[in-house]
Amino acid sequence: MASELELAAARRLLAAAGSLVVLTGAGISAESGIPTFRGPGGLWRNFRPEALATPEAFARDPLTVWEWYLWRRGLIDAAEPNAGHRALVTLEQRYERFTLITQNVDGLHDRAGSRRILKVHGDLWHTRCTGCAYQRKDRALAYPALPPPCPECGAPLRPGVVWFGESLPRIVWAEAERAVAQADLLLVVGTSAQVYPAAGLIDLARCAIEVNPAATPFSSRVAVALAGGAGEILPALV
Ligand code: NAD
Ligand code: ZN
Repeated sequence: MASELELAAARRLLAAAGSLVVLTGAGISAESGIPTFRGPGGLWRNFRPEALATPEAFARDPLTVWEWYLWRRGLIDAAEPNAGHRALVTLEQRYERFTLITQNVDGLHDRAGSRRILKVHGDLWHTRCTGCAYQRKDRALAYPALPPPCPECGAPLRPGVVWFGESLPRIVWAEAERAVAQADLLLVVGTSAQVYPAAGLIDLARCAIEVNPAATPFSSRVAVALAGGAGEILPALV
């Protein structure tokens, strides 16, 4: 658990920064009961990602892929944003230049009230067409038929998330890189920092703070590494 001294050092960095970027990963939603991918109880322990979260899997078996995503939607729908998500809303209000970059697709930052969000891995509450440019916000927890057909062209609709082997949304990614490179401080929360290119963002930062109960490849390189859960550490910081 982070010491009072470490927390004080992090608070000083936050107070001195004129601009702030926050990068979140699955860990910030762990205390809302949403499984992370790689930790204990991580989603990938029980499912093979290559069987579910790839374009090939969707082409082969869209029904199973959709069932998995609808199951995750149900799980997330029943969950609530936690104190960590809420602390980031408070932080956003303190900085004129603030960006929240998230690898999460769960939408809990939106539900907590964060506004300036760059979703580099897409959004589970977003659906788009595999055949045309059609897309929509989508709160459905079930459909009459799977995969749901596009209302414009009839092709199968797919979850609006980034799958393994797919590139990140170009404009969103460019904005994320620019925000990190220009910010005085980067706050990294709940990411194992193993997934490139997202982990590459941390390399662009001038100065960084990390919040994670476990050590990551970046813990030894950031200005302050705060050991602990986001729901406890972030409220203590703000
Ligand atoms: P990850 O599963 O690789 O790593 C999660 C990290 O969170 C670990 O380092 C773990 O130590 C840390 N953690 C666990 N509990 C925490 C807590 N209470 N507070 C703070 N940190 C905690 O997840 P990742 O780094 O985000 O990368 C994996 C990919 O998984 C991302 O691409 C993301 O899109 C996807 N993902 C998203 C969700 C979601 O939307 N909630 C869930 C699982 C995976
Ligand atoms: Zn279409």
